[in-house]
Amino acid sequence: MSGETKFSVMCSLFNWIHKSKSSKQKRSKFRKFLDTYCKPSDYFSAIRLILPNLDRERGSYGLKESVLATCIIDALGMSRESADAVRLINWRKGGAKTGVNVGNFSLVASEVLQRRQGMMSGGLTIKELNDLLDRLASNENRAEKTSVLSDLIKKTNAQEMKWIVMIILKDLKLGISEKSIFHEFHPDAEDLFNVTCDLKLVCERLRDRHQRHKRQDIEVGKAVRPQLALRVANAASAWKKLHGKEVVIECKFDGDRIQIHKNGQEIHFFSRNFLDHSEYTHGMSNVIMENVLVDRCILDGEMLVWDTSTDRFAEFGSNQEIAKAAKEGLANVAFDILYVGDTSVIHQTLKERHELLKKVVKPVKGRLEILVPDGGLNVHTTAGEPCWSRVARNVDDVETFFKRTIENRDEGIVLKDLESKWEPSDRSGKWLKLKPDYVRAGSDLDVLIIGGYYGSGRRGGQVAQFLVGLAERPAPNTYPRRFVSFCRVGTGLSDEELDAVVNKLKPYFRKYEYPKKGPPSYYKVTNNSKERPDVWIDSPEKSLILSITSDIRTIRSEVFAAPYSLRFPRIDKVRDDKPWHECLDVESFVELVHSSNHT
Ligand code: ATP
Repeated sequence: MSGETKFSVMCSLFNWIHKSKSSKQKRSKFRKFLDTYCKPSDYFSAIRLILPNLDRERGSYGLKESVLATCIIDALGMSRESADAVRLINWRKGGAKTGVNVGNFSLVASEVLQRRQGMMSGGLTIKELNDLLDRLASNENRAEKTSVLSDLIKKTNAQEMKWIVMIILKDLKLGISEKSIFHEFHPDAEDLFNVTCDLKLVCERLRDRHQRHKRQDIEVGKAVRPQLALRVANAASAWKKLHGKEVVIECKFDGDRIQIHKNGQEIHFFSRNFLDHSEYTHGMSNVIMENVLVDRCILDGEMLVWDTSTDRFAEFGSNQEIAKAAKEGLANVAFDILYVGDTSVIHQTLKERHELLKKVVKPVKGRLEILVPDGGLNVHTTAGEPCWSRVARNVDDVETFFKRTIENRDEGIVLKDLESKWEPSDRSGKWLKLKPDYVRAGSDLDVLIIGGYYGSGRRGGQVAQFLVGLAERPAPNTYPRRFVSFCRVGTGLSDEELDAVVNKLKPYFRKYEYPKKGPPSYYKVTNNSKERPDVWIDSPEKSLILSITSDIRTIRSEVFAAPYSLRFPRIDKVRDDKPWHECLDVESFVELVHSSNHT
């Protein structure tokens, strides 16, 4: 009979793997378990417990640590005020008596359970465990979940329950990779999983572990593990890595990776974790039905929200917002196509796939866009540039594109080898991503506005950017007396916010009369022209503090008076709540730079 393998046997396996130091030992323990203790008919039941985050047969438990804590407390019939209950609830920070396991929920839980459960195993089989876990996932309300947990507690000992808690939280912390698990199970398991994202299918189809399986291609309706991007540090290293290749640079959109599978009237939206996001159906299906011109296809792209008030993509935010947004303004940017008609096209080059994308999708502004070099997307960037994707001829093209996307507050760029095929789960470098490291130093990067630059176009004759400064560290208990020019910053605020700042400071603007008259003496500047703002703030006490963030990697300053400057600074917020003298001082900033290994 299937499902007879005892869970206690798996717990011993988990303990062994956990204790083993080398990956070789861990792997051989797992292989031995499969060879000796697990029947082929139990492969899926067992492997889904080891790789709980890949199991899509069971829905989500809806149990994060904090809810799980209350359910366990109730299942054990403990008072919520008891020391152990407090320990569980405060697992992250520790209760009155802080234990060694603080910060690790399953260990805190096992500490609490040990005092209440016996040492004897209840003889639970993996089939019984999986049935109970199914019940835990399918019952919506907390009382029902508590009752399942109570059953589990009755049928296990503390050691087993600790592992069950980890299974529920979907992380066993065994120190063995998913790749190794697949590999020990069957040489074709990883490949088959990558193109189906179906653990049950993999375990069943490869039940004969010595029989090789013909490599399978992707299918419409089955999620595929996405091609991934390798991170690089800068434009030069990206260019070097793709040396000699024909390269396209694309904007890295900040949304959710979604694969759209269209099969006649049926449409699926698979996320990176191969969850089917049916909440997109309402907002997107019609657009897809009408504008995807083939019956069957898979599009790979990013799901975003289109903000009609600003005429640009909105920042995506949390899942809740996504669900809310699903009713309005959902937009998909398709940057790849994986399947057309009845053929997989992942083996074709990206260049060829771009051509297919152009043929298959009829773009709809702000709803369904395609990303192909020098065209495609109907939407203009805020910088007014129509182009979100272009073929790069040299490293300067990459640098310029990168800089522009940052100014536009996009997430970064992706570089792709145009000759490459699309490979499930690959992160070997066919796609490279370049993102700025924003240093969100919060109050640490609070700088003072010391000057203003006029804008052009709509903002002609009006201050549109600021010169900001850092304080020279004052003597204890005194206010700073001089400010050192630090960087020029213009992006980050909305038009209204910018207007508000400018209006507040307007009475204190003084025109810069270089060379007749230099800047006010309380500002320390160099002679560089970038530092000559059109107006200075008459006196620092009248000015405002801005919180700024930036890519901190390239900050040695040749332009400004401070030893470092910020590469792509942007304003995070106006600190109306902070008086001028609480401006960050130069020494503190230098310490901050040295302490973050980014120089
Ligand atoms: P990150 O947190 O940097 O997005 P990740 O691990 O989620 O990393 P990566 O594959 O490393 O994913 O980075 C590429 C991700 O960027 C894709 O998964 C996708 O969601 C997103 N993305 C946005 N725009 C593009 C684009 N033009 N081409 C490819 N991916 C893009």
